[in-house]
This record gives sequence, C-alpha cells and structure tokens, in this order.
Amino acid sequence: MARQIGSVCKLCRREGEKLYLKGARCDSAKCAIVKRNYQPGVHPWSRGRPSDYGVRLREKQKLKRFFGVSEKVFRRVYTKASRQQGNTGENIILLLQRRLDNVVNSLGTALSRRHARQVISHGHVQVNGRRCNVASAAVKPGDTITFQGSEKVTKLLKESMEARKATVPAWLKFDEANLSASVVELPRREHLEFPVDEQLVVELMSK
Ligand code: SF4
Repeated sequence: MARQIGSVCKLCRREGEKLYLKGARCDSAKCAIVKRNYQPGVHPWSRGRPSDYGVRLREKQKLKRFFGVSEKVFRRVYTKASRQQGNTGENIILLLQRRLDNVVNSLGTALSRRHARQVISHGHVQVNGRRCNVASAAVKPGDTITFQGSEKVTKLLKESMEARKATVPAWLKFDEANLSASVVELPRREHLEFPVDEQLVVELMSK
C-alpha cells in the first residue's frame, strides 16, 4: 500500500519542487520548500542514490501531483496520449493543461487546483454559456469560460485573483473585469514552466 503523507507541503518536499498546492502561500516566505527544502522524514540525508526506476517514478509523481490527478486518471491520460500522433510525453502534458480545473486555476480565479475543482463542481463555471461541472472537461480553441453565481461567489473569485495575481498563460485570454476567458489556441509544451522530464514519465508508464 502506498505510504500516506499528511501535509501537502510534504509532497513538495519529497519531489523537491514547488507543486503549488496551497495557493497564495506557495509564493510567500511561508512556503515549506523555502523554509525546509529537504526530504521529509526522520533521516532525510541518509537516503542513497535513487535507482533508475526511482528517478522515473519521482518524475511521474511530480507531474501527477502538480496537476492534482489520481493514479487512475493519470493512467487514462497516458493511454489517450499514447494513441495520439506526436510525442507521447508532450501529449500527456497538453491533455493535462486542457483540463477545465487547470484552466480555472491558471486564471487565478481559485486559490489552488483543489479549490478550482470545488468552484467547478459547485456549478460556478460555464463553458460556451453552458454550465459545466466536470473538472476533467477538455477545453478547445474558441471556447469561452465564464463564471456565474451570487455576489458572494463573485467576491470570492475576485479575492482569489487578488491573492494569487496569477500570470495567465499565453494560450488563454482573460478579461478580469468581466470574469470571462477564452481559449486562444491549444496549449504547447513550452507553456508549462514546471520543470519535469516527460520522457522519463513515458519510459516508466510504457513498461
Ligand atoms: Fe508546496 Fe505550496 Fe506548500 Fe510551498 S506552500 S511546499 S509550494 S504546497
């Protein structure tokens, strides 16, 4: 059985990368990676060199946790990516980037990816004018994403934007005043600045 890790910050410390799981806190001095950038546990420095398998596993876990998807979902994404034309590693990243929860998080209208999923599941997001409460829905060029809800909801979304001050990726266009975004083009590999070697992920998943 997989080892359970209590705090989400321990996940970042284990991967040695900021996974941005706690919204605005991740960009503050309180971030656990800033304060304690070493492996969690009692003897963090006594671990030997990781095996080839270990290196690949860490890359896969890093990518999976960054996008906040389960093992089952990640495997499904890999299967779909491997059936598409082109580089499978890049396809995995593109499919994950197109998820609606990633879009809502990238716009900064939610404090974290988990919060983005909540905003979606509570029915506050519309795609092309129709309510969409499926976090894994894939957006495509030309889609418009808008937000609906009471004044309280709008206030919360604006507070999230204020706290996050997120840099919206170039493949999305966001009209902050009207809380309306559009998908300009399909995301590309270079739009993901997170450091991950997707080739190692494919090597692990293809076994
Ligand atoms: Fe990771 Fe954010 Fe915690 Fe920093 S604050 S360790 S980036 S979850």
